[in-house]
Amino acid sequence: MARFTGSVCRLCRRENLKLFLKGDRCYSDKCAFDRRSYPPGQHGQRRGRKSSDYGIQLREKQKIKRMYGLSEKQFHLFFERAERQRGITGTNLLTLLERRFDNVVYRLGFVNSRTQGRQFVKHNHFLINGKKVNIPSLLVKIGDVIETREKSRKMQAISGSLDAVVRRGIPQWLDLEKDELKGIVKAFPVREDLTMPMQEQLVVELYSK
Ligand code: SF4
Repeated sequence: MARFTGSVCRLCRRENLKLFLKGDRCYSDKCAFDRRSYPPGQHGQRRGRKSSDYGIQLREKQKIKRMYGLSEKQFHLFFERAERQRGITGTNLLTLLERRFDNVVYRLGFVNSRTQGRQFVKHNHFLINGKKVNIPSLLVKIGDVIETREKSRKMQAISGSLDAVVRRGIPQWLDLEKDELKGIVKAFPVREDLTMPMQEQLVVELYSK
């Protein structure tokens, strides 16, 4: 499936949740969801439409997939990997998604959205353990040190994002040395670290059909 190229704010309105896809704008009064918190389209304001079980499961899958900015194929590959791991598949899925490199630079506050994280990773702005890594889907491991490259440190987009990260906070499984523009993976994320409303078991039910 091709990547979505329309207005990402429509995705928040469709999923009835702020997905925080646009960085600073999401925290401002320009947020489209805050202004029009009903689904987009001609019939968006129609009330009382009842969804089937399938519809509810599908929406939940779309929500999580869109939150992390993945295509259907990429998301399904993560699901298959989660299934192969020991433990609860839904929890495995979310914690694998959290460990993606593009998500980690977002969580550390080096970028203001996962989309920007993916772009900056591809443009070689970050190092893992001193080496250039330009693979957004790479999964970080415990002990990994993520740094901003020397020549990227003065970029306004990065320093501005770091100032704004205070609003989001740094998750417990990561440690940020703000002055050094360096982050350390202290532990693997656990379900409790994810505070956005997500019902991952619905995704498991959907893919189990
Ligand atoms: Fe979603 Fe951010 Fe757009 Fe608000 S500004 S609708 S949170 S992407």
